[in-house]
Amino acid sequence: MNSDILIDDLIEYNQIVLIIEKNFFENGKYEILFDYETRPSIKDFRSNEESRNQYFSHISHILKDDYPFAVSDRYRRILEIKKSQSISGIINLNIDGILKLEDPQNIIDLEGNISWLYCSTCGMDKSMESVIKNQDAVSCSGCKDNVLKPSIPFKGQDIAEWDYRDSWMLLNRCENLIILAEDRISPITYSFIEIVVKRNKAIHIISETSNKYEDLHVDMSSVNFIDYSIDNFLDIMIKSLENQVI
Ligand SMILES: [Zn+2]
Repeated sequence: MNSDILIDDLIEYNQIVLIIEKNFFENGKYEILFDYETRPSIKDFRSNEESRNQYFSHISHILKDDYPFAVSDRYRRILEIKKSQSISGIINLNIDGILKLEDPQNIIDLEGNISWLYCSTCGMDKSMESVIKNQDAVSCSGCKDNVLKPSIPFKGQDIAEWDYRDSWMLLNRCENLIILAEDRISPITYSFIEIVVKRNKAIHIISETSNKYEDLHVDMSSVNFIDYSIDNFLDIMIKSLENQVI
């Protein structure tokens, strides 16, 4: 595809919602290390001290050397794009928390993020940075006997209802849905595609793989596949949004 054509197309876009699929940061390294399957059940975490200690030592082992994360070039591009008024919001399925720490407005970390730990009883929170770097205690200083939990769903927990609702609201008023897919599309993204297909709005999936995801039970016929690398696409998007301002 000729990139100039795409720039001209993108200039026309407005009320854009971006979905960032998993594995966007560091080739998915942390998505794998913090995968749902590695998390304890919420019941165990609440009732069993050993399970808690195990999980916290797992977390600090993963993060001790490179936390807080540096903003990657890709995320820098996203933050640039996000400044445009044409972007209504970003739904991020990655749990690194980088985007939200940099600029929380209009970002939904739908699967939670590891930047914060919170107390389920009193709501007190603490940054992951202070826990990892200063070895802060993970017990709640407010209620004493309660233990702080990273804000990602554990087994037996769903994604936060308010984040899901906010995503719906975004999708119900978007004109263009752009999905940045590394190599797969999550079930939740499919359910979002369905919403936007029903509204007859434009959907674009940026994916270098030739997978057209036709084996799934979602009508993909109205979906546009753009065979660009995500990085190239983001550069083009930045250019086109700059032109919009002029
Ligand atoms: Zn508390």
